[in-house]
Amino acid sequence: MKTKQTNSLLRMDNTIYVSSTRKFFAEGRGVLLENELYYGEDYKRIPATSIESGTGTEVLPDLYCYTVQIVNIVLVGHPASKEFVLVDAGMPYSAEKIISAIEERFGPDSRPKAIILTHGHFDHVGAIIELVKRWNVPVYAHELELPYLTGKTCYTDPDPTVEGGMVSKMSPMFPVDPINLGNHVKPLPSDGSVPHMTNFRWIHTPGHSPGHVSFFRDKDKALIAGDAFVTVKQEYLYKVFTQEQEISGPPRYLTPDWAASQESVKKLEALKPSFAITGHGMPMEGKLLTDSLRKLVDEFETIAVPEYGKFVDGNEN
Ligand SMILES: [Zn+2]
Ligand SMILES: [Zn+2]
Repeated sequence: MKTKQTNSLLRMDNTIYVSSTRKFFAEGRGVLLENELYYGEDYKRIPATSIESGTGTEVLPDLYCYTVQIVNIVLVGHPASKEFVLVDAGMPYSAEKIISAIEERFGPDSRPKAIILTHGHFDHVGAIIELVKRWNVPVYAHELELPYLTGKTCYTDPDPTVEGGMVSKMSPMFPVDPINLGNHVKPLPSDGSVPHMTNFRWIHTPGHSPGHVSFFRDKDKALIAGDAFVTVKQEYLYKVFTQEQEISGPPRYLTPDWAASQESVKKLEALKPSFAITGHGMPMEGKLLTDSLRKLVDEFETIAVPEYGKFVDGNEN
């Protein structure tokens, strides 16, 4: 973990203020207020996409997976009821696409009851500020993820040296600065329930990030796994583009704790999910999912953990 050190130059009241950190402003010495929503200073458009971008899959009548470039969002709720939540918030600059997908499914001017986050990486909160401002709905995340969502802590830098392909090599350009959602973001209830997602419970699945959670519905064994595991080799640009289905651990370039990640995958496999929507890759179900998850647990060291890279060589936490 590190705290952000940057130089910003802002002009106010004809005076030029130079700040070493955002904290300067948060402390009231500048104009940036504690509850002002902002993205990190390294926020940017990421030029990577897939053939599935802009398409949606109805996994179950009330479970819809929509791909934004290289990441998935999930709409939970039956279109007839008009009541739904949005799980995760896509890539930077994708707000218009997300709003269109939602209005196509739920009707004009539809808005979710809440935005629920699996974790706070840039590709899962990329459009969240525009969405929160438009809809004025609460955001929920695990309490251990809140420092990354309230401008306090940066994520660990991605590892471009990790075993893998072009996406890993591109990873230094990925934003890691914390965004600030101020008091719009709240911790998930400690009793395991998920606001506005009746019958789902959240499961703490750390490793990829400290407060990573997955969502599970016991009655039909539907799982929203976030990046706890994914169904595409996310490190390889070609595989990301084609979305070739293949079980994989969490994206390697952004996973600092492999031991915790392994425990999380075991926890999810033990639930024997029938349907899984993951943060990256196409939804998986049935025997393919059962067998793939079993294989991931049995061969975690080979399939998921990279052979080399700073998170496995012990050069960084
Ligand atoms: Zn992630
Ligand atoms: Zn992701």
